[in-house]
Amino acid sequence: MLFFASPTTTTVSQAATMKIKFSPRKCPVESQTNDDSKPMCVPLNEVPGWLQHNDYLLTGHRPPLHSFRRCIRSIFHVHNETGNIWSHLLGSLVFAFLQVYFYVNAPPSMTAKDLLIFTCFFSSAVICLALSAVYHTFYCHSEHVGNIVKRLDYCGITLLIVGSFMPWLYYGFYCDFYTKRVYMAMIFGLGLLTMAVSLCEKFSEPDLRGLRAGVFIVFGLSGLLPSTHWVYAYGNPFYVHPQLQLSIACLGLMSITYISGAMFYALRVPERFMPGRVDYWFHSHQIFHVFVIIAALIQYFGTTHMALYRLSHNAICPVNEGADLLLPKNLPVSLPVNPFLGDPMKLAMITPHPAMSL
Ligand SMILES: [Zn+2]
Repeated sequence: MLFFASPTTTTVSQAATMKIKFSPRKCPVESQTNDDSKPMCVPLNEVPGWLQHNDYLLTGHRPPLHSFRRCIRSIFHVHNETGNIWSHLLGSLVFAFLQVYFYVNAPPSMTAKDLLIFTCFFSSAVICLALSAVYHTFYCHSEHVGNIVKRLDYCGITLLIVGSFMPWLYYGFYCDFYTKRVYMAMIFGLGLLTMAVSLCEKFSEPDLRGLRAGVFIVFGLSGLLPSTHWVYAYGNPFYVHPQLQLSIACLGLMSITYISGAMFYALRVPERFMPGRVDYWFHSHQIFHVFVIIAALIQYFGTTHMALYRLSHNAICPVNEGADLLLPKNLPVSLPVNPFLGDPMKLAMITPHPAMSL
């Protein structure tokens, strides 16, 4: 996964000097070999500028391989993209497995619509992580191929953001039909817009890294609007069921995890403090990848709890879903608030379903 390229802060001569001092030489340095069976692995100063994303990683870079077969073969060799490739390749498989597990063990009360909402989330995670693995595998093929897979990676990030929001909005505003649809349409529209922008050739240009970062940050922060709305409308701890509180806590923890991972990535920690020592393992991009997987798992855990709560209480929605289009004609727009019992919408969230109290 790639948000934006890192700025250059270390000169090539400095890098070469530091390489001699710190190179762990885990990857054979074969800068000029025609041996097709061994992907080459070279120091930073031997790769072209479009492959120099991190100036603190001094060795273990793959040069342009000009062969898809060699790129695929490089997955099984140790270089500074090995951890990036395998972390998201395995992450993609984990979410594919979770998707099957979820379908097999889905509660009987789940409708096709519920399954569709969860499919959005699982598919976005599987596709995002898979596209990230594709990007890290093939971006060293050539500059042209690198630009294509880079854009696919951007699309994957957009998909994951949209797919992560959808179940939360659906179950968070489960009984608030109009609000739910407005927010889902807003996130979907912003996702389409972000994807269209990220597919433009200009979007990948190095000097537009600020714009790229800004687009994804604004898109991610757009979730603050429905989150704040939810907390304002239903987030009073006096009313909210502990299962929903857990779900909201997961949402906050997920945000902190994503931000922490992005901070590692943007600040290039820890390699900034030990150039050349984490060239192969434990550099910032790998840490960022692991944080993305953890954040998506937290999101899965939180969303599942919110969905299970909703599915066990859906019978007490003030209006059955599907009848909401009739609301303006047949029902009062807002239900009266009982001064002794509070807002009926909020009470609906804490009143146990009859089946639950048996
Ligand atoms: Zn990445």
